[in-house]
Amino acid sequence: MYKISLITGDGIGPEISESAISVLNTINDKLDLKFEITKLSAGDKALEQTGKALPDETINVIKQSDACLKAPVGESAADVIVVLRRMLDLYANIRPAKSYPHMPALRDDIDMVIVRENTEDLYTGKEFRVGDSAVALRIISESASKRIAKYAFETAKQRNSKKKVTCVHKSNVMRVTDGLFVKACTDVSKDYPEIAFEQMYVDACAMNLIRQPEQFDVVVTTNLYGDILSDESSQVVGGLGMAPAANIGDNFALFEPVHGAAFDIAGQDIANPSSFLLSIKMMLDWLGSKHNDSRCFQVGQKLESTIFGLVKSGIKTKDIGGDKTTSEFTKHITDNL
Ligand code: ATP
Repeated sequence: MYKISLITGDGIGPEISESAISVLNTINDKLDLKFEITKLSAGDKALEQTGKALPDETINVIKQSDACLKAPVGESAADVIVVLRRMLDLYANIRPAKSYPHMPALRDDIDMVIVRENTEDLYTGKEFRVGDSAVALRIISESASKRIAKYAFETAKQRNSKKKVTCVHKSNVMRVTDGLFVKACTDVSKDYPEIAFEQMYVDACAMNLIRQPEQFDVVVTTNLYGDILSDESSQVVGGLGMAPAANIGDNFALFEPVHGAAFDIAGQDIANPSSFLLSIKMMLDWLGSKHNDSRCFQVGQKLESTIFGLVKSGIKTKDIGGDKTTSEFTKHITDNL
């Protein structure tokens, strides 16, 4: 039995959380794997109701769980996810961009992953005013850069693909901070002679994600560049509705969709739950590795292939060219699992 904490979030968060709960309950009922799910509040609604975007009770339950699923939160996102990433030292943000069949995508042959440093860079929010100016501190450490580089090379080693790591930076301008990052990645690359290593400026990477995305396997980069590039890479393969993410530390991990709370479509039962459900697949893979539990890998595989199969046969939500509602699409998944 795995204990799963689930932040239901704001905007479309509660709707895609219901979809996630249905899928986990179906796994409980039909497959050889059991979950105990605890719903938690955090985000704009929690702030309104309790005065805290991340209530203490939520933190305590997360810390006692085996893994956390987090639906998107609204305006208070920085007070929830950025705090959780640092508090739980979830230093690796993993964002795969994989082509699915029959998607309104720019490319249908992409399988890459962005490994984004998750604890430093401009995301620490160290900003202040000095007279006429506003200043932001960008801190990049050698230890965090080497740690994420190692994670990227280990990821490349495990993947059945090109066995290549691309370090993305802008060290021609940010000579000290990005200079340190690219040097740390280059140093770590020497421990992985079997993995090809290259470096690329972030502007060139943004262009190449459109022009030649097939050249990428594992991209390793700093926090802000990774955030921007992963929205771009998810669009290349069909949009935010199919883009999962994992925040991984040495002892704990949190899984969430790449997209935000999407208030424009909230409450209409039209959100695509796939990004959140594919985050469950990433959670199953992580639990499988951590607990040496092959059932997790099998169920994760089954969940992904069920989503694949439905999309392939044209059963999909509106954002990717279909006509199914969130609840109808979820029902198709639970019926087919
Ligand atoms: P952020 O918190 O990242 O700034 P945002 O609200 O600006 O988020 P997103 O919510 O990430 O932007 O998504 C942008 C748009 O993409 C949404 O307004 C919505 O129309 C669409 N979108 C995002 N996620 C989904 C989804 N799961 N299903 C359908 N459409 C989606």
